[in-house]
Amino acid sequence: MHNDKRTNFPKDFLWGASTSSHQVEGNTENQWSAWEKAHAEQLAQDAQKRLAHLYTLGKPPSWESLALDATDPANYISGTGVNHYERYKEDISLLRSLNMNAFRFSIEWSRLEPQENQWDEDAIEHYRAYIAELKRQHIEPVLTLWHWTIPIWFADKGGFAKKQNLSHFYRYVDKVAEEFGTELQYVLILNEPNVYTLASYVVGFWPPEQKNLLTAFQVFHNLALAHNHAYKRLKNIAPTVQVGSAIALAQTYAHNAHNPLNKLSVYIKDYMWNWWFLNRTRHHLDFIGVNFYSADYLDWRLRQKNPERPHSDLGWYMEPGALYDLLLQVDQKYHLPTVITENGLADENDTYRKWWIEQTLTAMDKALASGVRLKGYLHWSLIDNFEWAYGWWPKFGLVEVDRITGKRKVRKSAEWFAKQIRGITK
Ligand code: BGC
Repeated sequence: MHNDKRTNFPKDFLWGASTSSHQVEGNTENQWSAWEKAHAEQLAQDAQKRLAHLYTLGKPPSWESLALDATDPANYISGTGVNHYERYKEDISLLRSLNMNAFRFSIEWSRLEPQENQWDEDAIEHYRAYIAELKRQHIEPVLTLWHWTIPIWFADKGGFAKKQNLSHFYRYVDKVAEEFGTELQYVLILNEPNVYTLASYVVGFWPPEQKNLLTAFQVFHNLALAHNHAYKRLKNIAPTVQVGSAIALAQTYAHNAHNPLNKLSVYIKDYMWNWWFLNRTRHHLDFIGVNFYSADYLDWRLRQKNPERPHSDLGWYMEPGALYDLLLQVDQKYHLPTVITENGLADENDTYRKWWIEQTLTAMDKALASGVRLKGYLHWSLIDNFEWAYGWWPKFGLVEVDRITGKRKVRKSAEWFAKQIRGITK
C-alpha cells in the first residue's frame, strides 16, 4: 500500500541530477556549435513565429516575458556555456550539498576525438579527473556516451544516417570503455534517439535539418543497431558495467477515454514513440533510462488536446503524477529495472518546481509499492543550461546560474528537495 511517508525507496536508490556536455561545458566544437553560429541571427529573428508554431506539446508561454532574451542572437550560441568544464568540482559539491549520491553527465565525443582516429590526451585526462572527483565526493557517475552532439568530421560523413559510419561510433565506445570502464557502474549509450530522429530528420528543426522520412527511418534504425552493438562491446571490455540508453517516454491518454478512435491514436503514438526503440533493444538493456517530461491527451487524429494549465515556461503541459502510469507500463512490458534519467521543467521563477518534484516523489513511491523495479531518480537539470534550439532562456536548473559572473545559486525548490532526500534516506 502507498503511504505518504515515502517508505518504499530502497537504501541504495540513486538520488541525483543530470546534465549533458554540450549544454553546460562551454567551448565545445561539434555539429551543434557550428549550426548555432550559422543560425543564431535567423533563430532570433524568427523567435516569435517559431515559438508559436513549434510548441507541439502545449500552449506557448507569454511572449512578453521572454522577448528580450529570445530575440537576441547571443541567446542561441552555446559559447562559453556555464563553464562546467572548468568548474566541475564546484558543481559536484553542489550535488553533495543537495544530499545527492548520483550524477548523470555526458562525454563530449568531439573533445575526445576532434579529428578522425586522433585522440586528445588532455580531454581523456580531463574526464578521468572528472570521474575521480565524482567518486571522491561519493557521487556515482552515470555516464552518457552520446547526447546528440557529434564531431564535425563524423557529421560531414553523414552521421548516423549511414550504416557504414557506425564503425566510427564503435571506436569511440571502445575507447571510453577501455579508458574508464573499470571506474563505472552505469553507462547510457544513447540519449533519446526518438527525439533526435524527429527533430533532426522529420521536422528538421535541428542540424542537419533534414525532412526526409526515409532518412529518418534509417537514422532511427541505425541508432537501434548502434545501441545493440555498443552494448556488446561495452560488456566485453567492461563486464561489470550496467548498460542502458535513455529514451524520452510520454504517458499518453485518450482525450475521450470512451472513444475507440482516440484509443487507436494512443496505441499508434505509444508504439512509434515509446516502444519502437525499446522493442528493438530490449535484449541489450540492463536497465531502461526513462526521460519523462510529458503527459499527452490525443484525439482521433493524433492531435494533442492537452489541458491548458498548468504549463511550464516552454509551454509544455505538466502532469508529473502521470509518471506512475508510465512506470507501471514500462515495467509490465519489459520486466527490466528502470532509472529516471531525466525529469524536470523550465521554470525560471521556481513557481512549479517544488510541486513537480513532490508529485514525482509520490508517483515513484507508489510505483515502488506496486513492485516496479525503479532504481533511481536524476532530475533535469543540476544547473541552468543551453536548451538546444531555444538557447539559454529556458531555465531547467535546480541551481540557477548567473551567466555573467558564473555564480551558482541553489533554488528554493532544490533546498526543499534536498530535505526530502535527507528525510527518505536517513
Ligand atoms: C534532453 C535534454 C533537454 C531536456 C529538456 C531532453 O529531451 O535530453 O538535453 O535539455 O529534454 O528539453
